[in-house]
Amino acid sequence: MVQTMYDLIVMGAGPAGIMSAISAKKHNPKLSVLILESNDKVGKKLLVSGAGRCNISNNNLSVSCFHGGDSRFVSSVFKRFNSKSIIDFFDDLGIDFYEEQKNGRTYGKLFPVTNRADTVVRLLELELEHLGVEVELNKTVKDVKKEDEGFRIITGEEEIFKSNKIVIATGGMSYPSLGSTGIGFEIAKRFGHDVVKPVPSALGVVAKHWILPRIAGYKCEIEVFLNIKSKFKTKATDEVIFTDYGVSGNAIFALSRDISIRLNREEKNEVELVLNFFPGCKSETLLDKLNQRWRKRPGQIGVSCLYGLLPNKISDNVFRYLKIDLERKSFELSTVERRRICEFLCKFPLQVKSTKSWQEAEFTAGGVATHEIKIENLESKIVPGLHFVGEVLDVDGDIGGYNLAWAWATGWIVGKGVE
Ligand SMILES: Cc1cc2nc3c(=O)[nH]c(=O)nc-3n(C[C@H](O)[C@H](O)[C@H](O)COP(=O)(O)OP(=O)(O)OC[C@H]3O[C@@H](n4cnc5c(N)ncnc54)[C@H](O)[C@@H]3O)c2cc1C
Repeated sequence: MVQTMYDLIVMGAGPAGIMSAISAKKHNPKLSVLILESNDKVGKKLLVSGAGRCNISNNNLSVSCFHGGDSRFVSSVFKRFNSKSIIDFFDDLGIDFYEEQKNGRTYGKLFPVTNRADTVVRLLELELEHLGVEVELNKTVKDVKKEDEGFRIITGEEEIFKSNKIVIATGGMSYPSLGSTGIGFEIAKRFGHDVVKPVPSALGVVAKHWILPRIAGYKCEIEVFLNIKSKFKTKATDEVIFTDYGVSGNAIFALSRDISIRLNREEKNEVELVLNFFPGCKSETLLDKLNQRWRKRPGQIGVSCLYGLLPNKISDNVFRYLKIDLERKSFELSTVERRRICEFLCKFPLQVKSTKSWQEAEFTAGGVATHEIKIENLESKIVPGLHFVGEVLDVDGDIGGYNLAWAWATGWIVGKGVE
């Protein structure tokens, strides 16, 4: 059955697709706009974002926090829709924000005061309704064809939708259970676009070490160095969660982009993490500190010097791993043993075998190459009328609200540019 010709059809009701439709209607209320969404709800990934709290944006949208596509492309987007524009947009919907504080510091991360992602999704849904955007749920786009005038979109149910312009807002490949299948990359390729091989990012990594299963479930603030081919690449200081399979947590997420590119895109290995349980502290400095503790209580078990600094379970297992008897008193520890303890705690090496799967990745690194996208309205340089927004593009941000900021900003710009 052939349906009405829409001015604009948006594929995908994630943050980028919703924002594209809202922006199109706000800038030109006469446009007929339809969203096709394969899920039974809009914004399913948004609902789980920020562990259900929705880290909606960041106060510091510096270009250096984004990776992949050309930095001029990213900076041009945020020059036109910046952090303040995002806040103003949501303020207009009635959402108040706060900037999170952690250990007395702020990292610019913005959350709704309700601390609930469903606040954001519900108010966006009401805005779509208010502006007269049509939303068709449970419609999975299978194919898109260019016609003499506009596009023909075919869904899994063999329904056909037609429109003058289209926006591909189908996201990346992370969390397939929430609707991401990578179809946007396939459509882009069919239209002749380059797609930078997508790899999972912001996820845990698999590593084997005697100590890991023994301290699984414990977490610490750790300085983690990433070495590739024995050369220092980058580092991150944040929470590390020890697991049965390896390591996870924000510090690992921050490094996982580089790890994933090396292992999954370049298909090479030699990836090593070096963990310092005492961020910024050299093993000699730690030795001075622990020596003071050992001297103070020479008759107490040696491992007790770590109890006030690290979880007991980690402390005990460091001793076990180093084959130092847990019953040994402080005065009985040799100089060599003392050095080995400090060396291990400041330079704990882990060889990374692989990353976890797409099912556990928060973002996609890679996607539709930005050099074939017009910077002014995010339209394809190859196929007029075809646009790309959000995670489907080869741009991904750091953890901290940057990816949603990218979705909001690109959605706004594309909607503004549709006439
Ligand atoms: C667990 C988790 C937590 C996160 N937390 C944060 C956070 O706090 N802050 C932050 O900035 N980022 C966060 N992210 C990342 C952020 O959610 C994404 O970058 C963002 O949702 C991307 O928006 P998008 O609209 O481009 O794609 P998506 O949100 O993936 O939306 C794409 C939509 O397209 C639909 N779709 C796909 N294929 C089809 C098809 N064939 N036909 C029709 N519809 C289709 C999907 O069902 C989906 O609804 C998180 C991600 C995850 C997985």
